[in-house]
Amino acid sequence: MKRWGWFSGGIVSGLVLAMAFGFSQSGHFDPAALKRTATFSGQPVRSDDDGKLGIIVFGAHPDDCEIRAGGASILWSDRGHHVKLVSMTNGDIGHWQMAGGPLALRRNEEVQRAAEILGTTTEVLDIHDGELEPTLENRKLMTRLIRQWNADVVIGHRPNDYHPDHRYTGILMQDCAYMVGVPFLCPDVPHMTKTPVFLFSFDNFQTPTPFRPDIVVSIDDVMEQKLDALATMESQFIEGGATGGPHRIPANEEERAKAFERMREGFRRRAAHVANLGREKLIELYGQEAGQQVKYAEAFEICEYGRQPDAAEIRRLFPFLPQP
Ligand SMILES: [Zn+2]
Repeated sequence: MKRWGWFSGGIVSGLVLAMAFGFSQSGHFDPAALKRTATFSGQPVRSDDDGKLGIIVFGAHPDDCEIRAGGASILWSDRGHHVKLVSMTNGDIGHWQMAGGPLALRRNEEVQRAAEILGTTTEVLDIHDGELEPTLENRKLMTRLIRQWNADVVIGHRPNDYHPDHRYTGILMQDCAYMVGVPFLCPDVPHMTKTPVFLFSFDNFQTPTPFRPDIVVSIDDVMEQKLDALATMESQFIEGGATGGPHRIPANEEERAKAFERMREGFRRRAAHVANLGREKLIELYGQEAGQQVKYAEAFEICEYGRQPDAAEIRRLFPFLPQP
């Protein structure tokens, strides 16, 4: 190409770039011209004008979102709402026998199969298991993901969980609560003009404060489907994950079937515990009789950062709760 060709080509691509980054020909910055494109891993982003809710759930490892919000995810996705589950780490030390790339691939494959059952989009970030830190880089990463999903609801761990990756996922989520709306933080992804509701998923930890069940959801209708999704995570719930051992490998088909049934029963007990712990709230949300009868539940605590929903908005964001 001749020199003039390079030059004019440069002007044209400069203009294209300027338009892509929201500068009109008059040189004014126009945030509305920015388009959500794709996440760094090439996953699609959510269109924001279909009238549906956007829910993004952050878990530290490839299984945490599914355990804590798998039932609610099914209930949302069954109604056409958009649920994305994000594992902040790739889970590559989460097994007693295997580790590194092969384990990360295996666990990604497990949660992708779970996503098909739950009706979610699932993304596993390529950060080493056990090494998640609440850095500026990770804050920006999470900020972009929340914006790209145009989330109405963001869910993550509480920052007083036992596992450092869980804790830092919770801290990162809190750090993003305000920043998602700040235009010049990560200006490459349009800032949010609505403030999402940030929720903590259930845990049993007591210090400094026990979990407060602000929103409790019956998952009775979808419990078996949630268990089917969890059953894809054989590396964790059959083989025992990081602290398992050879004794966990079923010797034959009969043992294997028993191991799966034990797994399912363990998660049923956990969901029943959540229902009992949140009984008062279940009765408030579902009414005396129905609330009393709920067997299995998932529970969420409203983070004091971000939008504070009133009773009517909670029912709008959780449209599977009885509507007034
Ligand atoms: Zn975890």
